[in-house]
Amino acid sequence: MTSRKPMVDIFSQVIEQQRELGLGELRLDRNAVTTLLPAEPSRKPSRDSLAPTKALTDFCEQINNCTKCRLHEGRNKFVFGVGYPAADVMFVGEGPGHDEDMKGEPFVGRAGQLLDKILAAIKFDRKQIYIANIVKCRPPNNRDPQPDEMSECLPYLKKQIEIINPRFICCLGRVAAQALLGVTTPLGKMRGRFMDFEGRKLMVTYHPAALLRFPQYKRDTWEDVQMLRKEYDEWLAL
Ligand code: SF4
Repeated sequence: MTSRKPMVDIFSQVIEQQRELGLGELRLDRNAVTTLLPAEPSRKPSRDSLAPTKALTDFCEQINNCTKCRLHEGRNKFVFGVGYPAADVMFVGEGPGHDEDMKGEPFVGRAGQLLDKILAAIKFDRKQIYIANIVKCRPPNNRDPQPDEMSECLPYLKKQIEIINPRFICCLGRVAAQALLGVTTPLGKMRGRFMDFEGRKLMVTYHPAALLRFPQYKRDTWEDVQMLRKEYDEWLAL
C-alpha cells in the first residue's frame, strides 16, 4: 500500500514530467500516476539475452555493408539499432538523420534527447528497450525514405523483430507505421489504440522530430505512451 507522502511525490513527478516535456496545460492523468506507482514484482521469467545478442551481432555483421538501395551512397555510418537484444518493447523510427549517421546510432540528436525524456516519463530507458529504424542509412537532406528504399530495407527490420521477439512495438511517426504495417492510413487514425502486428501489440505515435516542430502533439504522444506502459505493466503482471 502506497503511503500518502509518496503519492504526493508521484503527483509532483507527473506534473514535473509534463512541464519538462513542454506539454502546456498540466494535468494529473490517471495512467501517468499509475505508471509511477511502485511496480509489483513481475511474474514473467526474464528472457535470456545471450542467443539474441549473438544473433543480432551476426546479423549486423552480415548486412552492415549493404548496397541494396541508393541510400548507401551518402552513408557515413550504417545505423543498425541499439538496446536490449531480448527487449519486450521495441521502438521503430523512420531513418537516421545527420547526428545518427555520424554516430551510427538511432535517435541521438535533439529528437533523441526528447525520446529519452518520453521514455523516462514511462519508466523506460535505452538499456531495457530496443530502438531501430525502417531504413538503416540516412536519406539525403533528411527527406522521407522512398518506397523502393523502404521495401529493400524492411526485411532487415523484420529480421531484427524476429530475433528480439518483442511483445510490444511502438512506431514513431507516420512513415514508420505505414511502412511496417503496409498501409496508407493517416497517423491520426492509427494512434491512440493498439493494433496487431504478427501477434505483437503495435502502437503508433508521433515522431519526436515532429514534436519539436509541432509541440501541440506532445499531449497526444504523452497519452499514447502512457497507454503503452499501462498495457505493458498489465502484461507483465499476467
Ligand atoms: S537503407 Fe537499407 S537497403 Fe538501403 S543501402 Fe542502407 S541498409 Fe541497404
